[in-house]
Parts: sequence; C-alpha cells; structure tokens
Amino acid sequence: MTRGGPTAWIFLAIIASAARRVAGDTTCPANPEPRGCNAPLMFSKMRKSSTLPTVVASTGITQDFKDKLNEGHQVLINFAGGASPTTAYILEGGGADAAYADFKTKHCEQTTFNGHCGADALITQAKNFESSYMKGNGGVECVCGHKRETSSGLYYILDSSATARSVGEIAIHEMCHVTQTSRGEYMPTWLMEGGAVHTECLLMKKLSWSTQTYEDCFRSSGGGGGIIPNFRSYYASSYGSANGLQKGESRECGDFVGDSDTTATIEAGAPNNAGHLYYDTGAVAVAWAINKGGITSKQFWQSNVLGEGFWNTIVPWDGHNYATGYPGQCPEDKGWKASLKNITGHATMAAFYTEFDAWARTASVADVVAILESQSAIDTQTAGVFDLSTATEGTDHDPCAAKNVPPPPPPALSSSPEIGPSLAFLVVSSLTYAVLMN
Ligand SMILES: [Zn+2]
Repeated sequence: MTRGGPTAWIFLAIIASAARRVAGDTTCPANPEPRGCNAPLMFSKMRKSSTLPTVVASTGITQDFKDKLNEGHQVLINFAGGASPTTAYILEGGGADAAYADFKTKHCEQTTFNGHCGADALITQAKNFESSYMKGNGGVECVCGHKRETSSGLYYILDSSATARSVGEIAIHEMCHVTQTSRGEYMPTWLMEGGAVHTECLLMKKLSWSTQTYEDCFRSSGGGGGIIPNFRSYYASSYGSANGLQKGESRECGDFVGDSDTTATIEAGAPNNAGHLYYDTGAVAVAWAINKGGITSKQFWQSNVLGEGFWNTIVPWDGHNYATGYPGQCPEDKGWKASLKNITGHATMAAFYTEFDAWARTASVADVVAILESQSAIDTQTAGVFDLSTATEGTDHDPCAAKNVPPPPPPALSSSPEIGPSLAFLVVSSLTYAVLMN
C-alpha cells in the first residue's frame, strides 16, 4: 500500500568542500563526492521524541486527512518512539499554485542547502496527480567528513484515489522510517522497508477505524495482494529462488545497484514486482528473525540490550565510502549485522541468509503464519506507550569520534603557492543528492 506512486525523487544541491578536518569542523564527505542517489547516510542528529511531526498541508487538505495522518504517526510513535524535528508535508493533487505556497516556503526553510530547494519539482508532481509517499529530504549538514541528517521530512503527495484512512495507514510506514533513520547506520533496504511494513501489520489494529489483525495484514495487506503471497511468488520465481533475500540489501538508485541487480534484471527473473523482495520478503524476514531469536516484536523495536533489541542497539559503522558504498560492506561485527546476528545467533550474515532462504523456498502460507506472534501477544505488546527510556537517538553517535573517518582530502587543487592550507577551502562542485525511500 505504500508503494502506490511512481518513484519519487527530490534533489538537494550540496557543496562538497575540501578543508582540513579540525575539532567541530563542518567538512563534507570527500571520497571523492557523495554519489547523487541514496549515498550512505550513517549519522543522524535527530533527537528521540514522542512529539508528532509538524504537519504542513496544501490548502485543499481537509481536517479529516490531517487527523488521520496524525493518528498513523501517533500509533507508530507510541510503539517504536519518534524523532524530532520532523515535518510531514501533505499535498493535494491537482491544486493551483497558490494551494502550495505555504508548503514551498516551509519546505525550502527546512531543506535548502546552498541555495537550492526542490519544492517546485514536488509541486509539479502534485499538480499532475503523481501520487507518492516517502521519507524524503529533510535537513542535512556536514560534520567531520560525514553527512548527517538534522531534521526529517515526510511527503504525502495524493492523487484522487487517496482517502484519509489510506493516508493514515501509510503514515505508520513513513513515520517508521523517521524512527529508523534517527538511529543512524546505513541500513539494507530489506530491513528498512520490511521493517516499516512489519510495523504496519503490528499497528494497523491500533487505528480507530481498523480491525485488521497482524495475521490478516500478512495474508492480505502490506502491499498489493498481501505480504505472504508476494513473498511466496518471489521465491517461486527463478530470480528469487536463485538469489534469495541478500539481493534485497541494495536497491537500484541512479544507476547504482551495489551488490544487488537493476530493477529490470530482478523483474526479468521475478516477473511481478521487485517490491516483493524489498517490502514483502523483507517483512517476512523481520518476523522470521524475531521468531528465530526468541524475542518479541516489542523487544525488536524497543530494547537496547544486544541480542534482544535491534533498532536501539545499533552502533553505526562509519566506514562507508560516500561515492561507492552499499550496506553489505558493513563488517560482520559492526552496525546492522552485529545487532541482527546477536538476535538470531548466526555466526555470519551468509549463514543467516542461507537458513532463511532454505526455509523461504518451501514455505507454505501456514509455515509463515506459524512464525507470527499471536494476536493476543501483539495486543499486549502494543497496549502501552513506549517511554523512550531505552531508545537511542542520533546524537548518541558522534561522527567526529568515528573510528573510520575517511582520510582528509588532498590539499586544494590549485597549485598556486600563495594559497596555504588554511585557505584550502575549495568548492568542488554542486551535485544532486537524492533520497529514495518510499
Ligand atoms: Zn518505505
């Protein structure tokens, strides 16, 4: 349900600068430059919070849409905790320019970097009814050779088929991405998207208008046709059977595929939808890991104890190359791999994938249902409000204290001898930075 619109792109021009790294410095990544699409983002400055995102709406958005958007955000915050500052932009389709004026002002205030703001492209998209739901650009800054997020932006661009309820349900998924990224670490796509779909199923029944159970969500929702059918169709395909879950670590973005394959290649061998890998198989894999580890979904999302919790035990691995990095390059004992393997008990991620894939290739609907926690267990786990005492936040991880900071860039390209190191501040180029996480 959250992949209903075309691939959405936002562009933020940034300036990469070359300068000596000093305490408290603001140097950008320089190896040589972040690539233009879904480059590693390992650090966050977001603070843990139970505050709802600030909603900025175009003029045609009704109070009912805003209320249900807030409700979706709230149930996720109640369960997994939120992060601030976050702004949620909701734009009607087909509006006049004036309808989006407030959006343009506030979006540019939040995201403009080096004078560039991507609001006009989003407004054009909305005016053309190009539906899109995503966590997109927020604020970003450069610190000690790293980039980090300083504020989050959620984008709900509606077409004429959107309802307040459908938007409220999608809001669980998108708010989940805010919480996920606020923990830091460059996560594999299947853990991001599968994790967000998993929370949809955990929390759908908490919405005032929904009675959908955890199991029903797996059987018939979480994507077109249902998580379980889509997962099974992936493993029934030639591509899915041969390649399994690991190809879901990276997702094609701006011609960069990391250690995965292009969407065209995946869909040539898995003839439905590459989303069945990232979203549906990802969600099943999250449930499988929880079951394998003998933990609860609540522990997975709330605990800060290694071996029980995932999101609040993450220590970002800081060694990715911003131009060429992909999540699979994380060392086995670092970052997401360490947190996940401590839960499941696997010695290596290869062992994790081997066992999961072997199970998945033959898993029946009943086999998947059998690993799901009972509805009474889910009801108990989602009854309260997470007090955030065991939640981590972006500022727990300091990019300036990072162990694997890339080496300082070379001196200014100029050979002019009168330009000393202290003046080696060189604008390399502006480049586009895109976030794709729908
Ligand atoms: Zn998503």
